Amino acid sequence: MSPSPIRIDALVVGGGVAGLFTLDALTRAGRNALLLERHALGTGQTTSSQGILHAGVKYALGGSAGEDAREASMASAMWQSMLTGKGQPDLASLRTLASHEFLWRSSGLRGVAGMLGARLALQTRPEAVAAAERPGWLQGVRGDVFRLGEVIIDPRDLLDRLARPHAARLAQGEVVGLRSEGSQASIEALLGGQRVQILASQVFLTAGEGNEALLAMAGLASEQPMQRRPLRQAMVRGNLPWVFGHCIDGARTRVTITSDEMPGGVVWHVGGELAERGPSLAEGPFLLEARSELVACLPGVDLRAAEFSSYLVQRAEPRTGNGRRPASVHVQRDGPFVTVWPVKLVMAPRAAEQAAALSVAAHPSADGQWPAASPRPGLARRPWEEATWTHPA
Ligand SMILES: Cc1cc2nc3c(=O)[nH]c(=O)nc-3n(C[C@H](O)[C@H](O)[C@H](O)COP(=O)(O)OP(=O)(O)OC[C@H]3O[C@@H](n4cnc5c(N)ncnc54)[C@H](O)[C@@H]3O)c2cc1C
Repeated sequence: MSPSPIRIDALVVGGGVAGLFTLDALTRAGRNALLLERHALGTGQTTSSQGILHAGVKYALGGSAGEDAREASMASAMWQSMLTGKGQPDLASLRTLASHEFLWRSSGLRGVAGMLGARLALQTRPEAVAAAERPGWLQGVRGDVFRLGEVIIDPRDLLDRLARPHAARLAQGEVVGLRSEGSQASIEALLGGQRVQILASQVFLTAGEGNEALLAMAGLASEQPMQRRPLRQAMVRGNLPWVFGHCIDGARTRVTITSDEMPGGVVWHVGGELAERGPSLAEGPFLLEARSELVACLPGVDLRAAEFSSYLVQRAEPRTGNGRRPASVHVQRDGPFVTVWPVKLVMAPRAAEQAAALSVAAHPSADGQWPAASPRPGLARRPWEEATWTHPA
């Protein structure tokens, strides 16, 4: 154990997008905050994110703009101000992969009709795209095509830009003890083999799936139960066009495709309902299904030479009665602990703002910092950097 405890205003546990935005918001609010990350920044959900800054259209496919569509719409206004350098943190030079995406229909009319019914409630309205103006990869599509002004960002570049200004506040380590002690929290952590004690006025739990074990350690598991929603995302690499968009059928999103570059070509990252069905399938049958969905959704793209892969990932959120996605961010205080689940990457700045608003006034003697020799966390790799590729057969 280090000789004396590290005294700070706030400890943020977990360095995904929620933790890094929360650290930034707390620091701007004048708190002395430090962040502890167990592996690499963004391990789990953030590095798996497709990076779509949803403005609510996808959630309005059923025909009405509910709470989740309105929340996403408000969050996208915050992004707009950060991406143009007017808001904080300044993300004007963040790597954006696309300034818009497409939505096209594989069959049926209901989805598009429903979506158009919800248009007025949304900030970003879908615009019909005439046949002559469609990108080449949509040429084989017979149904309607719409353009959505939803920006797609690179989640790893986001993690990097959020982490850099706070590098000295980040450490890699493991929480091994967590309890409230009077009005503050006492945390025991292992940093590169060294056991340290941290005394913090507040602990912000932003560990995604890891929040479950941390809440149990703090005796709060029953106060804030968590749910996991599994996905099997598909990946396709080869000589492919850059594709960003959703192929819909009724109110269903058959596939959501985003693209990035990787050595040897372009990689597609594929989610949507395909990914929600995926965890019940082994990889072989799943990849066959992924290819047939993509051929049905994009008949004009030749996938014969493309290679496929997949990976499993869990979304971690507060438990809802029906097991579905919560409509809005979750920020809850229990004594010195504040639990944060942003539910979507696009909501993370709103979650951080709400979390920082619950922070308590800075304590004059809480000027602790990480020991100089503490290990620093790196950035998590993207899923396709670790994939094994095959031609489905
Ligand atoms: C496949 C997929 C695609 C998605 N696409 C989109 C999208 O296009 N748009 C969108 O808005 N949202 C999207 N999302 C949702 C979004 O990615 C998540 O809501 C968001 O990234 C959650 O961030 P987080 O920081 O809460 O959790 P995470 O990103 O999971 O980060 C948690 C961090 O805490 C660390 N940690 C865990 N336990 C501990 C511990 N005990 N001590 C210290 N550290 C710990 C982990 O290592 C990790 O770095 C997607 C999610 C998935 C899975």
